[in-house]
Amino acid sequence: MTRYIFITGGVVSSLGKGLMAASLAALLQARGYKVRIRKFDPYLNVDPGTMSPYQHGEVYVTDDGAETDLDLGHYERFTGVASRQSDNVTSGRIYKTIIERERRGDYLGATVQVIPHVTDAIKDFAQAETEDLDFVLCEIGGTVGDIESLPFIEAIRQLKNELGRGRSISVHVTLVPYIKAAGELKTKPTQHSVRELASLGVQPDVLVCRCEQPLPTGERAKIAQFCNVPASAVIPALDAASIYAVPLQYHEEGLDSEVLRAFGIEPGAAPNLSRWTDITDRLFNPEGEVTVGVVGKYVGLPDAYKSLNEALVHGGIANKVKVNIRWIDAELFEKGDDAEVAANLEPCHAILVPGAFGSRGAEGKIASVRFARERKVPYFGICFGMQMACVEGARNMAGIADASSTEFGPTQEPVVGIITEWMSKDGIEKREEGGDLGGTMRLGAYPAKLTGNSVVASIYGGESISERHRHRYEVNTGYRERLEAGGLVFSGMSPDGMLPEIVERPDHPWFVGVQFHPELKSKPFDPHPLFASFIEAAVKQSRLV
Ligand code: GLN
Repeated sequence: MTRYIFITGGVVSSLGKGLMAASLAALLQARGYKVRIRKFDPYLNVDPGTMSPYQHGEVYVTDDGAETDLDLGHYERFTGVASRQSDNVTSGRIYKTIIERERRGDYLGATVQVIPHVTDAIKDFAQAETEDLDFVLCEIGGTVGDIESLPFIEAIRQLKNELGRGRSISVHVTLVPYIKAAGELKTKPTQHSVRELASLGVQPDVLVCRCEQPLPTGERAKIAQFCNVPASAVIPALDAASIYAVPLQYHEEGLDSEVLRAFGIEPGAAPNLSRWTDITDRLFNPEGEVTVGVVGKYVGLPDAYKSLNEALVHGGIANKVKVNIRWIDAELFEKGDDAEVAANLEPCHAILVPGAFGSRGAEGKIASVRFARERKVPYFGICFGMQMACVEGARNMAGIADASSTEFGPTQEPVVGIITEWMSKDGIEKREEGGDLGGTMRLGAYPAKLTGNSVVASIYGGESISERHRHRYEVNTGYRERLEAGGLVFSGMSPDGMLPEIVERPDHPWFVGVQFHPELKSKPFDPHPLFASFIEAAVKQSRLV
């Protein structure tokens, strides 16, 4: 029997609902249950693919090529369950589907309305492909009271009713603010938020209360009384020292057993949390530290590089070191001032250029590649970072002074160019230059073949890999010979040999560029081999300087 857990947020946004969902799923998993987490996003974009990272943080890409909310990254990192397109839906996608159906005449003359048509679509989404699962956790984006989220709350209300007793519960995440001047924690915002939710027909079963101070028994009892839940179902959630300590902390506070009890299930034996204690032990007792310089474009907002940030932390977990990330704005280096580059990059034990779109900051990234190559500092180029490693190699090692990417405008030397045709598992994919921006990239998992004796084959421990992509441009194989003569070896290619997937410099301590996004598949309990190896190289570098 599949059970549903609906997760809403109240009072303010940024309460860590996604982390709560991910942690709860991990705890249920540790008790032997099969789980999946889904996200409903009330905004009207069809997916977050066209949103600026400054608006919405990173776009998380799934194996099946969906561009999704970054919370899906947390879900996958915490549970190891690979997310799918069907795990993230927006109001925009729902309305698009309904309007397309309406235009086809599928509604047979009926008036198309929010209730039942939109709410039915939401319920279908929640229940699709869930047969083999014990628990489906559905997180509703936004805050209760938002106009946009109303149809979602209504759909939950209906679904709870249709599923019947014991098949679904509602968990509401709220804020219990501490008012310094009064020296008190305040429960009123929680009361109001629960009342708002209840007025929409959804009574929460468990309340997760984010607070900066421990929640005294009195306040806990008060919340329970006003919000109509047992005191044991008021779960305090204090800030944690690391997101990977959150599952353990929620377990200590009784979240998983309280959720099971709300379903009428006796919690029984304690979950097996050894995976989480091992991770936190490594995180909190590092044997050294390294500094990685990330030369990027959206460095003002860490959420824009969420998975990257986490994958670097995982690399640290693998090597038992603390990884300090130095976020460097690539535009600082645009003027080609070598002293500026050196001043910023010399303190780094390794340099990483992440994914990006557009020309802003590109010259700064190329300057960073050059610094890493010349100074023999470990370099990791991801997607745009691989493309810029190729442009740098072309310009400075292969004598192609005008090497560039067509992404930056017309060029005589398109070392990186647009792809208009490629093979996917579904056959030939085609794109038009200047076509739509939404959903028109090489997206999702693609296989690659690695050269037998390459650095990357030894890092992966094999020659066949599958990694996730999100890009329009590719390194142009027409330049392969000249780039290789300049020391940049193409060590990973698409199985048909047409698309470069990995480049490396065998004469450098650690220099790897990848066309895909390995950070998306890294997990704290299963660090991605490239990140583990990159941080290992940073550790070696730190011993040299
Ligand atoms: N802008 C580049 C492209 O579209 C790189 C994209 C990325 O780094 N994700 O190919």
